[in-house]
Amino acid sequence: MSSPGTRLKGAGVSAGIVMGKAVLVGRALSQVHEVALSPTQTDVEVERFEAALRVSREQIAVLRARVLEVVGRDHAAIFDSHLMLVDDPAVVQQVVQQIRERHRNAEHVFQSVISRYCEMLSKVDDKYIRDRMVDIQDVAARVIRNLQGHASIDLSHLPERCIVVAHDLSPSDTASIDREHVLAFVTAIGSRTSHTAIMARAMGIPAVVGLSDSVEVISDGDVLVVDGSTRGEVIVNPTPEQLVVCERRIREQEAWLARVEAESKLPAETLDGFHVRLAANIEMAEEVETLRQRLGVGVGLFRTEFLFVKNDGLCEEEEHFRTYRKVAEDIYPHSVIFRTLDIGGDKFLSHLKMPVELNPFLGMRAIRFCLRRLDVFRVQLRAILRASAFGKVRIMFPMISTLEELQQALGVLNEVKAELAAEGVPHNPHLDVGMMIEVPSAALIADKLAPHVNFFSLGTNDLVQYSLAVDRSNPDISYLYQPSHPSIIRMMRHVAQAAYAHGRWLGICGEMASEPLLVPLLLGLGIHELSMSPVSIPAVKQLVRRVRMHEAEALVDQAVNCGSAEEVLVLCREFIRRVYPELLPNAES
Ligand code: PEP
Ligand code: MG
Repeated sequence: MSSPGTRLKGAGVSAGIVMGKAVLVGRALSQVHEVALSPTQTDVEVERFEAALRVSREQIAVLRARVLEVVGRDHAAIFDSHLMLVDDPAVVQQVVQQIRERHRNAEHVFQSVISRYCEMLSKVDDKYIRDRMVDIQDVAARVIRNLQGHASIDLSHLPERCIVVAHDLSPSDTASIDREHVLAFVTAIGSRTSHTAIMARAMGIPAVVGLSDSVEVISDGDVLVVDGSTRGEVIVNPTPEQLVVCERRIREQEAWLARVEAESKLPAETLDGFHVRLAANIEMAEEVETLRQRLGVGVGLFRTEFLFVKNDGLCEEEEHFRTYRKVAEDIYPHSVIFRTLDIGGDKFLSHLKMPVELNPFLGMRAIRFCLRRLDVFRVQLRAILRASAFGKVRIMFPMISTLEELQQALGVLNEVKAELAAEGVPHNPHLDVGMMIEVPSAALIADKLAPHVNFFSLGTNDLVQYSLAVDRSNPDISYLYQPSHPSIIRMMRHVAQAAYAHGRWLGICGEMASEPLLVPLLLGLGIHELSMSPVSIPAVKQLVRRVRMHEAEALVDQAVNCGSAEEVLVLCREFIRRVYPELLPNAES
């Protein structure tokens, strides 16, 4: 048992406070049995071992790509060392040799080689080596699971009211989880956009991820209090005093949820009748069901990168089409905006063999990549256009930085439409086409871009990064990552004016829309669609319903005249305190 009251800090990625017992999964090596083989069976056994290595290599490459995409290069490096371990010639040769000489099954031989290796390392008093042992055990567990034909951790039979604690959970692990019994997830790696986080939100299960090594202090059976809100806290074996506080917060949460439920069917409309469309940012078709059932909203940003991560090939038209069509059909009568591939920056695909760049965020990203690799781009456009025959589908280009780029992308889109028309393939040739405004150059020439599109969507995650010259994934400079900076509000206002002057509608799909504190600014800018993480929708709707437009517009007028992000935040806090004080502890936590 860990010492009572230990507080661990991670990223709260799926809101909710719960208390339950920890169940540790996926750390220990699986049970293996020794099986004697006849000499004629050893060749097949060696092949089986090599096949398991191959599968492990592929799985690690996918994990690496996903982590690189969502957490960044530093964290993905762990998978480079995993790949090296799978390919470690010393281990592989020893195992192959022993299978042949001792006539034993691969799992048994492999486990004994690894155990001996770890025993040797455990005698070395060096943190680096100890860390390496954790990696070795992780990789070994994977290879053994693959040898035994268990691709993932079995999460379908768990004790009641448990909290799953793991290093990481793959999408298939998470999908197989027993929702009846699992109260929350806690993982060592991951971020808001990692698969565990997305699935947790989709399933409505509170989650704290990114606890790093501190997750190691949790033992099986420990009592945990998990707060998946922006607090992102896990308390291990709470003290009686902590229990009193936690129980009060759980009661407050229940009262809040009851209020959200009561208001869920009401429109997202300000007190003076301005209707704003709320929509969700999602990455997987599986998330649509919850959106429709619980929230009744459409999709303002469907990130398509995960589909490419899943595929070994670059873009299989049929697979993409099936996914896009399912989303379009399931979300109907609401609409979905499919964003074309936004690869590059911190989102890489290991099978793509992209050249190493000194400044990946300023490099061959998103639309730049697509315009270079027209084979990939055309196939994706075909799949999205074909899906447009089955629902309300819109299409959006990421990272446009010049007018020429937009015109080229539209040119390719028109060619693909003509191709489909010539083939007699059903599609909607009049679907809405938009672009993200996430590069300052695009924001500043929005008036020149607006005539060519039906809508803009503000991608503030990147707009903030590029405007303030602050790498969005670098924690050391995160203090500079300021969505409320007056430069951002000014730029957004400029875009809004350009859009409205050309009769275009304006959306926002950056995380800024999930931040209740900043929502009055977005309303004041007259933004028509706020697209955000699904979990934030109820709180944002409640807030919208308490705001008057002329007050929100006055707030924008004040904000653009501020000198700093903090000054803007002070104004926003005052605003919220006036219109919806109950939201402040949540908005600011
Ligand atoms: C953005 O940049 O705001 C955005 C929504 O895109 P992404 O976070 O996928 O780069
Ligand atoms: Mg972006």
